[in-house]
Amino acid sequence: MNKTPEISSDLTRDEISFYHSLLNEELTDYDCGSLCKDANDGVPFCCVVENAVPILYKEEYELLKSRSDLGSVWEPESKSDLKLKKDSEPDSALFCKCKGVAFCERENRSISCRTFPLEPYIDKRGKHVGLVFMKEFLHGCPLTSRNKDIRQEFVDSHFIFWEALLLRKDDEYETYLRSSRRYRRHRTKTGVQFPILFPSHLKDKEYLKEYI
Ligand code: SF4
Ligand code: SF4
Repeated sequence: MNKTPEISSDLTRDEISFYHSLLNEELTDYDCGSLCKDANDGVPFCCVVENAVPILYKEEYELLKSRSDLGSVWEPESKSDLKLKKDSEPDSALFCKCKGVAFCERENRSISCRTFPLEPYIDKRGKHVGLVFMKEFLHGCPLTSRNKDIRQEFVDSHFIFWEALLLRKDDEYETYLRSSRRYRRHRTKTGVQFPILFPSHLKDKEYLKEYI
């Protein structure tokens, strides 16, 4: 009798390549780094490792390392760095840094770089329905108050990426289920709304209102 092969929880290189192919759309119609780099010594806020440390699946790191020396493993330099690494680096992933924005290679950027500043939003039913700004960067990324500048093509292809990843990895689904609940709790407590960027097929859907 044929046994169904077990699916490893670790992503393969083919899967990573497929995900990268879904994450090639430009975020905005202009260079959004022009909005934030003057306040960060000429470097976009999200490319300063002290502001945001990219986290790569180990297999993603190996894949990118086989093609380029753009990225390397991030080494903690302070007690707070050490705590961050200890508390937040999962077994299956690595905090990394890059050589710097002057050396950036678009095709060799990580999933972390490509998806910033958005993450998936999961509604009250547990359904993935759109993208929201990562709350950690509400005060660093100017796009968080210019959500209309984000290209619909970017939202659509990133939605497909997140949908695939959330179905593939239970731990990622749980992570974003929890963060989405936190967004709703904050909204209930403060009355402050948060923008949800919907993919084209879910835009202006009346039935969704009660679930988001
Ligand atoms: S995504 Fe935000 S932080 Fe990064 S370059 Fe664009 S505006 Fe700056
Ligand atoms: S790889 Fe490119 S996009 Fe990613 S942090 Fe470095 S400079 Fe920024």
